[in-house]
Amino acid sequence: MEKKYLISLIGVLVSFLLFSCAERPVIHEHAFILLTHYQEMSLGDEAAREILKKEKLVKNPKIVKKVKRVFDRLIKALPPKFQKLYDWKVYVIDKDIINAFALPNGNIFVYKGLIDFVKNDDQLAAVLGHEIAHVILRHGAEKVSQALLAQLGGYILLSKVSPAERELAAKLYNLGINVAFLLPYSRKQEKEADIVGILIMMRAGYNPDEAIKLWEKMVEKFEKKEPPEWLSDHPASKERLDYIKKVVEFLRKHPQYVEKFEIPQKLLEVD
Ligand SMILES: [Zn+2]
Repeated sequence: MEKKYLISLIGVLVSFLLFSCAERPVIHEHAFILLTHYQEMSLGDEAAREILKKEKLVKNPKIVKKVKRVFDRLIKALPPKFQKLYDWKVYVIDKDIINAFALPNGNIFVYKGLIDFVKNDDQLAAVLGHEIAHVILRHGAEKVSQALLAQLGGYILLSKVSPAERELAAKLYNLGINVAFLLPYSRKQEKEADIVGILIMMRAGYNPDEAIKLWEKMVEKFEKKEPPEWLSDHPASKERLDYIKKVVEFLRKHPQYVEKFEIPQKLLEVD
């Protein structure tokens, strides 16, 4: 009797996990995502509303136009399916922080400090491409799903958020919005976003060598022990720079992947 009960319980669990396994686009692997696309979108919408209420945006039309121009070119280079799937918008927050983050609905926030840090449009495209990749790969929804599964309390969540985002996270959390998407990404997620981000910038015709230069600059700053804020979520390491170089080289040699918007498994394994 007990055994029977156990077997049916396992059955329920297995089907629960099977139904919750989504296939991650572009890199085609299974991902544990409990949220539907609709939930992902409304979670992002709610968070965006609160962020826009609280943060001061950059008004300087020169800066806003430049960021929008690069962002639009990247979005237009996505396959039509992904262009339509999200509410693609970019905002520049008027704070001198070298950071950027993406909400699961396709709203991307860049701090003014990061705009000053990048040297040209190609470097800006590298940062924005990376954030767009997090959205398409559903990394935010994945983090929320993992947090739901672990039933993390707010205090645990907040302790893991980078200082720049803690205040924002606390506010959203108090409003009952699940803030797990603000948690740092895992190394695996970061690597996936790096790779797919380069794929996106190359589709849009930006020079991926500038992504390498940007990371060299980050590593240099990191070694001087003055890591910009972005690095708390995006550790700059020699290893990271090394695989980014390999990814650029591979995609240049195999433009069919850029065309198809696909990443082969072997590229995810480079280190
Ligand atoms: Zn990232």
